[in-house]
Amino acid sequence: CGIVGYTSTGAPGDADALDVVLEGLRRLEYRGYDSAGVALQIAGRAHGALYTEKKAGKLARLEEALEEQPPPPSRTGIGHTRWATHGGPTDENAHPHLGGGVGPDGVARVAVIHNGIIENFAALKRELLAEGVTFTSQTDTEVVAHLLAKAHTGDLAEAMRTVVRRLEGAFTLLAVHADLPDVVVGARRNSPLVVGVGEGANYLGSDVAAFIGHTREAIELGQDQIVTITPASVTITDFAGNPVQGRRFHVDWDA
Ligand code: GLU
Repeated sequence: CGIVGYTSTGAPGDADALDVVLEGLRRLEYRGYDSAGVALQIAGRAHGALYTEKKAGKLARLEEALEEQPPPPSRTGIGHTRWATHGGPTDENAHPHLGGGVGPDGVARVAVIHNGIIENFAALKRELLAEGVTFTSQTDTEVVAHLLAKAHTGDLAEAMRTVVRRLEGAFTLLAVHADLPDVVVGARRNSPLVVGVGEGANYLGSDVAAFIGHTREAIELGQDQIVTITPASVTITDFAGNPVQGRRFHVDWDA
């Protein structure tokens, strides 16, 4: 329902990713939700390992869990508030969903959050189950996490393009990969996604409220587009990989 992404250089004075993501989720609370979760890239870990926490219920439940087990500092993260469509509002069904439980540290490689509905998830899930993939939720979203992990060969935007071409329905998707520090990739079809352009930091949101506390310079993604943000760059393509120019605008209202 609500989506936030953030990446920064981690310069002194830069906000921690967890704080930026939670603030964004709070600003999106007005949309309503039944669960919330975050994935953070832990800076300085050899393989940019991912830290995730997710809880059914109000944001306060997620915040309590994060206070009990505070994650290390991070420069990059994504956060989600869920309005369940497939699978009840449980901790397991909350986003992020993880894919690719292999790699040097044995932890998941990819974390994905999603607004919308993957209409053809059942067929994709059958295919993945037949390949031996284990599912940990009842959501339509989890297929995307597994497909992305399988498609990834070093370029997460390319993997996202491969995966979205197989999806039917409505989606705003954000993904981070354990092996790619300070990169967040997003995709959209029939569901909104906006980039917030900062100084040494960039943002993604399902609406500008997600980052309005930090920047008012924004770029709107068009239909069927993919975006990659790093602390210093914003790159947008269509689903075929052709570069496109997003519509840039200044947010001059109070979100
Ligand atoms: N269809 C997804 C789910 O049920 C995403 C729902 C949403 O937009 O929050 O988990």
